[in-house]
Amino acid sequence: MFSLPGAAARGPRLSALGILRCSYKRVMDIKACGKCGAKWIDGQLYWSTGAKAKEEDLAGLVCNTLGDKQCINPMRGNDTGTTWAKRMDAINELDE
Ligand SMILES: [Zn+2]
Repeated sequence: MFSLPGAAARGPRLSALGILRCSYKRVMDIKACGKCGAKWIDGQLYWSTGAKAKEEDLAGLVCNTLGDKQCINPMRGNDTGTTWAKRMDAINELDE
């Protein structure tokens, strides 16, 4: 009897290049923000690079300044995450 060993047991492989590639048939819950391009896969937010992201950081860096009604980030308007101002402060501190 012909069979594919392990094919069904393997889960989706997550990598920077392959987060959308799925090795078995399963409907993934994928949402993308039309404004900033961030993706939520099964509730986890990823940057467009494929790295995991926090919704607060996305809000501080992108959605709070660029977002509008199109933005689907639930944390839009939240300022507890990182921002460019905070990043500049961190860089300036390193310079001193
Ligand atoms: Zn957004």
